[in-house]
Amino acid sequence: MAVERGEFQHTGPQPVHCVARSLGGRLVMATLAFCALFILVSVGVLTISAWSAGRVRMDAELAQIEQIYSTTLSKAIWELDREALQMQVQSTMGIPSVGKIMVRVTLTNRTAELFESAHEGWAGGGWAPVRRTALTYVPYPGAREEVGELALYGDENVLWQRLRSELATIVIAQVLQSLMLAGLIMLMFNRMVTVHVQRIASHLAGVNPGNLTVQLRLARSRQRPDELTQLESGVNQLQSSLASYLKRLQHHEQELAGHRDRLAQLVDERTAELQAANERLQKLARTDPLTGLPNRRHFDEARTTEMRRARRNGQSLSLLVCDIDFFKGYNDHYGHAMGDRCLCTVALALQAQLGRAGDMVARIGGEEFGVLLPATSRSAAYKLAERIREAVAACAIEHLHSEAAKVVTISIGLAVLEPGATGDFEALFQEADEALYRAKAAGRNQVAGPDASAPPRHEGDTT
Ligand code: GH3
Ligand code: MG
Ligand code: MG
Repeated sequence: MAVERGEFQHTGPQPVHCVARSLGGRLVMATLAFCALFILVSVGVLTISAWSAGRVRMDAELAQIEQIYSTTLSKAIWELDREALQMQVQSTMGIPSVGKIMVRVTLTNRTAELFESAHEGWAGGGWAPVRRTALTYVPYPGAREEVGELALYGDENVLWQRLRSELATIVIAQVLQSLMLAGLIMLMFNRMVTVHVQRIASHLAGVNPGNLTVQLRLARSRQRPDELTQLESGVNQLQSSLASYLKRLQHHEQELAGHRDRLAQLVDERTAELQAANERLQKLARTDPLTGLPNRRHFDEARTTEMRRARRNGQSLSLLVCDIDFFKGYNDHYGHAMGDRCLCTVALALQAQLGRAGDMVARIGGEEFGVLLPATSRSAAYKLAERIREAVAACAIEHLHSEAAKVVTISIGLAVLEPGATGDFEALFQEADEALYRAKAAGRNQVAGPDASAPPRHEGDTT
């Protein structure tokens, strides 16, 4: 059968019916996860680098302080100006990067003295840089005296504080950068891939045999072909080959249907011819070819049916057995061909006397005919037998070698199955045959019944 429009059947894997998750969303999640990892690593690296940069910066600041204060401190020590020394030590505490200052006075001929000052809560964990330098004084050109030692300790808290603020900036910048990257990817992916994939999906969902010629068109530039362009042309190619395949299929199915119809017609014709031939054969098999009367086989079938019917309905069944008199002599004198013609004439004469439906005459032997008369009483059968005998004689077929008459005559033996009587058809036939024998013996050209009650032969019959 042709594939109807709209009966497009899925034979391959069934479509997946589940809540569709966005590819773009998954890509963004993956990007964010990667960015989080990247932030961790980059923040770690940047923190280490910011820490060492902070230390370098603090060391430079301490070096600058050292440079500024070492001259004035050396002068104050040389001049034994303790007050100025103390003041200068205290003033360094106002500089944020200095955590602690230590000035050791090592003048010759004087006991060593230590001046120091530190920020409150300064612990000195060893993270901040420390600068030590010898304090020298030049009392006159060419003379150089070492007067003490200056130690500057960087403030660790300042280092940490600076790192914290830098770290906040780094983290905020990285997070913002990652979010913007993820957003950009989402936007680009959505514009470049997701909308087109959705368009392809909805196009494919609506494809059916009726609209295979409607091609997929993606709203995008054709200047730079890519994978989506390949997919688009692949879908269109598939549709067009499917359309031509369906067209061919439809054409072949139409052809096939035509052949089937023709074949069915031929089969019907042949069946009808066969039936007619069969019927003809059946008829031939049950017809005597010479006279056209039913033959012995047909007679045997009919007699069985009529016997049953007579028994069932409680009716009588009469049987006549007719035989042409001195037919051998006829044949011998007039020839076999004339004998055949005589048989046909007698057959016609017999048939012409049977007017009732159900009455039947058959050629049951060479020149012997059987007549079945359903629902016919003995007297009616006698009357009919006489009429038949007279009809044959009335044909006036010359027969110069008959001892019964100058024309062809027949003798008839009659038997009747009375209502309620027992016995089979063979017995009935036997009875009729015996009656025929009696008719022959009594001189032929007459009707004989089964017993003595048979009416005598009529005077004046054709003899
Ligand atoms: P009867 O009066 O006692 O019946 O004598 P009859 O000669 O008729 O009987 P018999 O049985 O001696 O001869 C029958 C003849 O019928 C013999 C045969 O030549 C002839 N006959 C049988 N069938 C045909 C047939 O089909 N065609 C022809 N032409 N003759 C046939
Ligand atoms: Mg005979
Ligand atoms: Mg005979």
